[in-house]
Amino acid sequence: MLVIKCPWCGPRAEIEFSYGGEGGIARPTQTENLTDAQWGDYVFMRHNPKGLHHEQWRHASGCGRWFNALRDTVSYEFSATWKIGEPAPAQTVPAP
Ligand SMILES: [Zn+2]
Repeated sequence: MLVIKCPWCGPRAEIEFSYGGEGGIARPTQTENLTDAQWGDYVFMRHNPKGLHHEQWRHASGCGRWFNALRDTVSYEFSATWKIGEPAPAQTVPAP
């Protein structure tokens, strides 16, 4: 069984969580100046690395809160989780 550490509730079973896609994607601020291609990149283009991946998860069957996670896409191991709005842990978050 995979165990994920919710930043608020602590370690819980994977079944309590839902995946929310790639993390660390900032919404554009000057939207009126974006081209269709730039909007398309923001809305649709995501990284699919083999290895460490910055992701968003939600503790759906627990506190219901969203958080950031750093997960290895090969081993499924979570190496870090942290609250939205907080800086990533000292460990390096891969650049997109
Ligand atoms: Zn929680």
